[in-house]
Amino acid sequence: MIIKDLSIWKIFDSRGEETVECEILTEKGVFRASVPSGKSKGKREAVSVDFARAKKSAAELKKLLVGREFSSVREFDKALLDADGTDDKSRLGGNVLLGYSIAFSRARASERDVSLWLLLRREFFPNADDSRRPSIFANLMNGGAHADSGLDIQEYMLVVRPGKNYADDVALAVDVYRSLGNTLRKKFKSKVLPLGDESGYALPLKDNFEPIKLLENEISARKLGKKCSIALDVAASSFFTGKAYKFGGETLNAKELCKRYEDYFKRSKYLCSIEDPFAEDDVDGFRMLLPKLGEKWAVGDDLTTTDAKRIREMAAKRAINAVIIKPNQIGTVSEACDALTEAKNLKLHTIVSHRSGETEDAFIISLARASSADGVKIGAPAHERMVKFNELIRVYEE
Ligand code: PEP
Ligand code: MG
Repeated sequence: MIIKDLSIWKIFDSRGEETVECEILTEKGVFRASVPSGKSKGKREAVSVDFARAKKSAAELKKLLVGREFSSVREFDKALLDADGTDDKSRLGGNVLLGYSIAFSRARASERDVSLWLLLRREFFPNADDSRRPSIFANLMNGGAHADSGLDIQEYMLVVRPGKNYADDVALAVDVYRSLGNTLRKKFKSKVLPLGDESGYALPLKDNFEPIKLLENEISARKLGKKCSIALDVAASSFFTGKAYKFGGETLNAKELCKRYEDYFKRSKYLCSIEDPFAEDDVDGFRMLLPKLGEKWAVGDDLTTTDAKRIREMAAKRAINAVIIKPNQIGTVSEACDALTEAKNLKLHTIVSHRSGETEDAFIISLARASSADGVKIGAPAHERMVKFNELIRVYEE
């Protein structure tokens, strides 16, 4: 399959921020990919360049790649990485490299006449267990950097364990989201509810625990205790001052914050997972909490930034037992797959995730199926996020 042409477009994500769509032309047709952007970003993430620089990167890659053939996604990605030559993708831009890497994966799937998830499975995860399907992590209430609700915790998620089919599971998530909306409309005596960046409700609730209580009520009222649980993404870097954590109106050290979380887990039998409970460099904080959690998940996101090496380090330090995988944190498909493989080898739970600023590209769902991930994190079941929920239904039927 010879690459005939490369193009790039400036497009806008769900938050109205500028991002890129990359396009590869082969004899099989045009293959596109667009790249999301994050708001609460880890400092070790691959660098995204603005569109003026992205255009220059695309022109350079066009000269390098047109007329060439690659026999795997990894080989294509190696050409991108060699061309960039930096550790953090700051020369050509992680956003540009990832856009072409995904577009090439689509072109190659078409050439091989297989679906995208199967191409990724064959190239990167030949031993994955296809009977395993991910739980849905649906973000229903928002705080932190994603909303003006005054809550410190960024995401309160409903976790839906996979049932017979994802159409039913998505319907359930939509139903809980709507019913929670009705409860909040009554509580705040308002027909219109403010929403955060991922369409979760963004309301000034009493304290950081109240959203957990509200989700619990939804779960208990419908007797969904076996099917659903609750996960948090604290995104604690956003309220770490460099010395202390400003949490719930108090100034806490890591030990005190750890106690607050322990108390949350005691008070809520449905709470099953906590992401980024401490700031991205506070490894000791993570290490303090993990032994208290038993089977529950301590998830690294800003801490690990989809980097296989960093994931290995954090697992060795016993800081986490689960990890978020966001392809644009690292900048190529191969490296995101390597991060997944590393996590799986280390027996960490894996959650493939969207970003707060999203596009209509649903690549992450194919990545989740290819790797047999344990979770997919895709925001609230509404508005632009519905694209990913619908893709989940389709990809797992293929
Ligand atoms: C997250 O922190 O997990 C997230 C999805 O938000 P962002 O894209 O802003 O990093
Ligand atoms: Mg996160």
